[in-house]
Amino acid sequence: MAGSATSRAASAPRQEGAQPWIDLAVGCPDWEPPRACIESAAAACGPRVPYRTPGGDPDLRQRLVEESAWNAGGGDIDCVLTTGGKEALFLGLGAILVPGDVVLVCAPYWPSFLEQIRAWGGVPHVIPEGRDGLPQLHALASAAPRAKAIIVNTPSNPSGRIWPTARWQELSKLAHREDLWVVLDAVYGGLAYSERSCVQNGLPTALLARTLVVDSGSKSYSLPGLRIGWATGPARWIQAMRSLQDASSTHPSLAGQAALRAALDIDPDWSSGVRARLQQRAEALWKAVQASKSLTMRLPEGGLFGLIELPAGTDDRDFVRRLAEEQQVAVIAGSAFGAPTTLRAALTVDPEGLREAVRRIECVVERPS
Ligand code: PLP
Repeated sequence: MAGSATSRAASAPRQEGAQPWIDLAVGCPDWEPPRACIESAAAACGPRVPYRTPGGDPDLRQRLVEESAWNAGGGDIDCVLTTGGKEALFLGLGAILVPGDVVLVCAPYWPSFLEQIRAWGGVPHVIPEGRDGLPQLHALASAAPRAKAIIVNTPSNPSGRIWPTARWQELSKLAHREDLWVVLDAVYGGLAYSERSCVQNGLPTALLARTLVVDSGSKSYSLPGLRIGWATGPARWIQAMRSLQDASSTHPSLAGQAALRAALDIDPDWSSGVRARLQQRAEALWKAVQASKSLTMRLPEGGLFGLIELPAGTDDRDFVRRLAEEQQVAVIAGSAFGAPTTLRAALTVDPEGLREAVRRIECVVERPS
């Protein structure tokens, strides 16, 4: 996650001669993308680089529709290629919101959800997290009648929590009863550690007709700088997004589209290797936190992050500043994600680095300011 929260960590004063930094702030994969993606991206830039079809290459869009599990329910499904998952979310919200519309956002949340909703004149309504790490059901049910849509992000940035099937069933009933649109941010869907916890398996077919699914090459294929994403969903919703895109960016870069096309054909072992690496890191972080005297956390089930809970009453923003200044560890304060008294740690270094980061976090906990 680039942007304001990250720059807060990066702007911390760095001491001369101090120990090496451990940067767990930005959710940018630290491994190389598949070589075929980079070669295809380079080949896409021939002697001429013309404009192409708004909405992205029709064949690639068709393939994404055919391969998406969300197509299983049949119906009129379409796809738009976008400049990262971020543009897909932005256009998806812009296509349905009018000023004053309420959108439900589940805490802990990715901060851009709030910014994007507000940019279209909408009003975010945050649903608090229950003890199970999922949005509280009674809060969802009482806010839904006033809402136009809900954003679900699973696996979650920042917590790594994955929605179980039962929660999807409950949302499906609620969405039908209250006529809610669902925006499923599945940009970490390809990074669910266990086959059984795959995002696709949980989504009820009955919800497809009112769900937009956002995905991206940034995380699953380690291509964030190529800015390629996509959304699949009901054809009318996608059509409205394409009109907005036509009026703004026209289509994502040809290099990004070519890299994504290549990514769809890579050896599945590459992806399972990435998932295994992340799972190993998540477990190393979790075990180190469990072994600590003062920290706790839930074991992430997918994605690139974990949320570490600080002792009750700790000011997480102040803690992040001290952690950077005193111990050279960069993380993001949980308050930025609607999760005060926590730290978001990116799984972007090897287990040894994560264990060392936890050791340094403990040093700051133990040393009163
Ligand atoms: N959604 C979530 C939850 C994210 O964390 C991010 C990036 O950090 C995105 C969407 C957008 O990613 P991109 O635009 O790189 O595809």
